[in-house]
Amino acid sequence: MIVEERMTTFINSMDLGNPEYLNELEKYALETFVPIIRKDMQAYLKFLMVQCQPAKILEVGTAVGFSALLMSEYAPDAHITTIENYDKRIPIARANFEKYGKSDRITLLEGDAMEILPKLSDRYDFIFMDAAKGQYINFLPDIMRLLSPGGLLVSDNVLQDGDIIESKYAVVRRDRTIHTRMRDYLYTLKHTEGLTTAILPVGDGVTVSVKR
Ligand code: SAH
Ligand code: MG
Repeated sequence: MIVEERMTTFINSMDLGNPEYLNELEKYALETFVPIIRKDMQAYLKFLMVQCQPAKILEVGTAVGFSALLMSEYAPDAHITTIENYDKRIPIARANFEKYGKSDRITLLEGDAMEILPKLSDRYDFIFMDAAKGQYINFLPDIMRLLSPGGLLVSDNVLQDGDIIESKYAVVRRDRTIHTRMRDYLYTLKHTEGLTTAILPVGDGVTVSVKR
């Protein structure tokens, strides 16, 4: 938790919510422990979709397709390319895109983003990074290449449930590598020439970067 839970509850209580099919999918994801974007992050992503009206979206980390379907709901003209490498989730995501009539709007690429990203050559005006936190820093060179000028890069889960502010030695051993890499990622986003980044305590922490 990054901000006081009551604050998040209050903010979420103001929200208009999503269409029923997204609620259904959210419920399924939560029941099966699939880590989808939280309510406040959903509201922020919705805002960004309406504000940016992106034509081409790239998502790293599909899971079962919840965030891709949410983006598609609020940016209905966009084409979304989304990458997932977990073989148990891929068929579920594909079935969801089919079920909700989005197969022509959402392209699911199967495999490790570390191998897929270098092969992509399109430019994307919105990139949503929501995969393994420890790998964001490794994805960044390709992400920078794929992001069009004026485009937005949004990265989820960057504040590590609050652990990011602790000393590396205060976080449990297995989270230390991620801790170091995420601090490195945040520093790099802030110091990359041509990128302007804000770090926001939304959801599990999010960065929003614009490429000048
Ligand atoms: N964006 C989704 C949630 C994604 S959870 C939503 O909000 O609905 C993160 C997903 O990233 C997991 O399903 C995981 O399998 C996938 N992932 C992690 N590392 C990856 C990698 N290197 N390449 C492709 N997918 C990856
Ligand atoms: Mg996430």
